[in-house]
Amino acid sequence: MSNDTKIYISYNQVHEMIKNAVARYRIGQEFQPDLIIAIGGGGFIPSRILRTFIKRQGNKNILIQAIGLSLYEDIHDISDNSAVALAKAANQVIKTQWLSFGPPVATTLVGKNILIVDEVDDTRTTLSYAVQELRKDIAEQEKKFIKEHPGKKVPETRLGIFVLHNKKKEKKMQLPDESIVRAGRYWAAAETEDRWIVYPWEAIDIEEHTQKSMANKIV
Ligand code: 5GP
Repeated sequence: MSNDTKIYISYNQVHEMIKNAVARYRIGQEFQPDLIIAIGGGGFIPSRILRTFIKRQGNKNILIQAIGLSLYEDIHDISDNSAVALAKAANQVIKTQWLSFGPPVATTLVGKNILIVDEVDDTRTTLSYAVQELRKDIAEQEKKFIKEHPGKKVPETRLGIFVLHNKKKEKKMQLPDESIVRAGRYWAAAETEDRWIVYPWEAIDIEEHTQKSMANKIV
């Protein structure tokens, strides 16, 4: 008998999971995202597939922006520089890539429905850090909006979260923006046990990986 406790997910299963979740939670109709923020690298492929299913007929493609976040444990090979030391002391997450707010690309957050996408919510550290940092940027942009549009009401900016898998376990961190959960804007395509999940984009032998994924039941 095999000791392999990992869960293998195929590309087709990722695709089906996203399709089913978008329909089940009516993400396109209810939340109507204007902007997708993909947390790299696991959020990249799910983000692109999501866009296919939440695209509204006749509307423009939803913009996908990428951010890079790493748990400091995963990046200790880049030597103990100050950024890593800081991450270790603070949230244990480090930004390796972030949004651009100035030329040539100026990402506007204020007034948008922003969907943050990652492949898995494990300890919730990464998602909680992403929300915290985005909220800081939104607050900055709101200040600028008030300055530039005196007397005008600041349009509401709403954050949502989509993950392929949420591991059912006690989380190390809570989301700093409570409205996400309160308003039902946290969506997991599947809830899983606390086991390691292997995604198809990590596979070396995709045929073998796909074979191992056959045992899964997709929701
Ligand atoms: P968290 O911050 O929620 O603990 O973990 C977030 C990151 O850890 C994920 O974006 C992912 O890169 C990595 N991770 C956590 N659990 C798993 C897993 O079961 N499989 C894979 N492939 N990555 C995981």
